[in-house]
Amino acid sequence: MEDTVGAASFVLTEQPRLSCLVDTIVPPDDHPSGVDAGGLRFLERLLAERPDWVERVVTVLAACERASREAYAAAFTELDGDRRLAVLDALLDDPDYRWFSGIVNGGYYADPGNGGNDDAASWSMVRWQPWPGTSRRPASSALPSGRRTIDPAATLDRYDAIVVGSGAGGGVAACGLAEAGRTVLVVEAGSWPDTRMLATDHLRNPRSMWGLEAWSGPRWPQNPRVLDLADGEREVGPGDPEWGGNAMTAGGGTRVYGAQAWRFSPEDFAMASRYGVPDGSALADWPFGYDELEPYYVRAEWEIGVSGDEHDGSHAGPRSRPYPMKPLPAGRARDQLETGARSLGIGTLAVPLLISSTPYLDRPACSQCAMCVGFACPVDAKNGSQNTVLTRALATGRTSVLVDTTVERLTVDQAGRVTGVAMVGVRDGVVWRRVVRADEVVLSAGAVETARLLLNSRTPQEPAGIGNNADQVGRHLQGHAYGGSLGIFSDELEELIGPGPSIATADFRHGNDGIVGGGIIANEFVPTPSNTYLYLSGAGVIPRHGPGAKQGMRDLSRRMVRLMGPVQEMTSADSRVRVDDRVRDRFGNPVARLGGGLHPEDYRARDFLTARTVDWQTAAGADLVVPMDGGTLRTPSGGQHQAGTCRMGEDPASSVVDPWGRVWGHKNLRVADGSVHVTNGGVNPVLTIFANAFRIVDHMVGAPTPGGPR
Ligand SMILES: Cc1cc2nc3c(=O)[nH]c(=O)nc-3n(C[C@H](O)[C@H](O)[C@H](O)COP(=O)(O)OP(=O)(O)OC[C@H]3O[C@@H](n4cnc5c(N)ncnc54)[C@H](O)[C@@H]3O)c2cc1C
Repeated sequence: MEDTVGAASFVLTEQPRLSCLVDTIVPPDDHPSGVDAGGLRFLERLLAERPDWVERVVTVLAACERASREAYAAAFTELDGDRRLAVLDALLDDPDYRWFSGIVNGGYYADPGNGGNDDAASWSMVRWQPWPGTSRRPASSALPSGRRTIDPAATLDRYDAIVVGSGAGGGVAACGLAEAGRTVLVVEAGSWPDTRMLATDHLRNPRSMWGLEAWSGPRWPQNPRVLDLADGEREVGPGDPEWGGNAMTAGGGTRVYGAQAWRFSPEDFAMASRYGVPDGSALADWPFGYDELEPYYVRAEWEIGVSGDEHDGSHAGPRSRPYPMKPLPAGRARDQLETGARSLGIGTLAVPLLISSTPYLDRPACSQCAMCVGFACPVDAKNGSQNTVLTRALATGRTSVLVDTTVERLTVDQAGRVTGVAMVGVRDGVVWRRVVRADEVVLSAGAVETARLLLNSRTPQEPAGIGNNADQVGRHLQGHAYGGSLGIFSDELEELIGPGPSIATADFRHGNDGIVGGGIIANEFVPTPSNTYLYLSGAGVIPRHGPGAKQGMRDLSRRMVRLMGPVQEMTSADSRVRVDDRVRDRFGNPVARLGGGLHPEDYRARDFLTARTVDWQTAAGADLVVPMDGGTLRTPSGGQHQAGTCRMGEDPASSVVDPWGRVWGHKNLRVADGSVHVTNGGVNPVLTIFANAFRIVDHMVGAPTPGGPR
């Protein structure tokens, strides 16, 4: 709940001390100071949104005062600039102060709409623009024209099929079912926000790390998750990166994703056969191989829309059709990295992207703006569920999309057979509930929420949750650990040419001595200035505050290159989603409880990949290379690449769904999302989610399938 009055009076009361502190963190020079750029107004808005942070700011002010009096026997506000900076330097190990200086800088470098960057002063300072070379601005709306979402009251009592979730898997499922003549209700927990809302805010998107809830959802109150950590448990909200969410909005993650569109390699489908099963892991083969999915990769690439290279790099399987579009143009960073790779003998390729490089499927080509990952596309050239398959489903006239509605439980008949879903939402402040029946139900709520929904659907026949009599639902939660490094070059290689990832190597996906699996390495998305601040200061390349931080941002923002790579995780049965009966969401349903962690092999592979990025940056001529922090992750893996919690398999004792996504024991209940991944590849997963959903729905509607019928 916003507390505008409380925040305003706090900032007013503390104005002298806050001004002094903010202007020591971001001091005046040839460019405005933090306060001059609106820093206090920014803090006021922030604390209105997060009243729970006021106490933390009070703690920081007190720590500052204490340190000042101990060192100089004077109040912080009475010190000269050098002494104030010395006081803050002494506080750098204090987590509260580090958080505060981060927030102040975050506001200073964020979009002016946040209130701390008046006249985009910091953007001029670091020469950053969101729309270089284009005057295009966010479209007013990305709703498909002519059709809108329906009102809860307009839902029918019965549909042929209900699809839960409208992301990668859900969109494909709705499209395939509707085009095959079924009536379909898509139930989506998130809303369908205007593009403008999802295309501007640097602090509230799923790639910002400021603890604020992203506009792409979830943004509703009382929606925690519980983390099982080595040192106890912790409840976290969706603004916390540890909550481990994807976007929750029409289109799911695909509305705002980075859109890297990698196929898994043949070896990715047979990890246990290829490497054996490391102790403590539950590594397994998929119940089918690359060849079976290949035609569906083609469908995903053509029906959603991928731009990519003429070849797929090392370890790729054969492809039966080229990409529909050529890669997007790239700039100097790509060329310099290419030279470096060549000198190391590393093969490279353009990063495949679900972004149109030419007008495609009635939408324009990418304008290559500087704000891609985490944002909705202002020109609608990023191809996701919401503007491709979901639009097609709507065009049949047989699909209705109900947003802002959560499926809280599956309904069953007396025999335990699934009959539909129980839905819940809030309208005008009043909670409503409704049960809708369907012949078939498809779960595409993402790996955490699909598992949670099954676990919360307890029946006399399946008291631990539908599909969970073998205690498999929720296990094998995985995502991607990342290796990577930050390089500083003497030339300005960052030209703000979006989306950013333009060159990759696939050489380390497999065949790495002594390593199980591996992953691709690619250069990163054009960062926002506030994230650049985090990367540079986090790597210790610039100070966290003071004149040096500002100078560092001026000097290095455009000389920074980040190379990153996702590591194929080993998956363990203990890395899992459970539900926590003691902690309930706003509707009274048990929340997800995430436990477990990475396998030691994952850390080895991650550190191996990090070392390869360091080699590559060095060979490309970086003056300085800082490897990513190689520490142990505190929290379970999952996050935006979450997968694995309803494992596909041939054996009901060790899997949740059969090879066609049917929940064991339930012929009319399927899972079509990242949950079914047995392993998650050493690449971003979404193209495989799209492709496998096409395959599952083909089987559902009786279309001929390469591997079927089974
Ligand atoms: C910023 C960002 C960048 C990314 N970049 C990439 C990338 O470059 N390449 C890549 O491969 N992947 C990327 N991803 C990940 C990618 O988006 C996901 O892998 C993909 O969207 C997962 O598809 P899904 O069908 O499993 O679930 P989702 O797309 O997450 O869709 C699930 C939907 O279900 C809804 N839902 C959940 N619970 C319920 C319920 N109980 N009732 C009703 N609805 C419910 C959610 O609101 C959500 O909209 C990125 C994600 C983000 C957020």
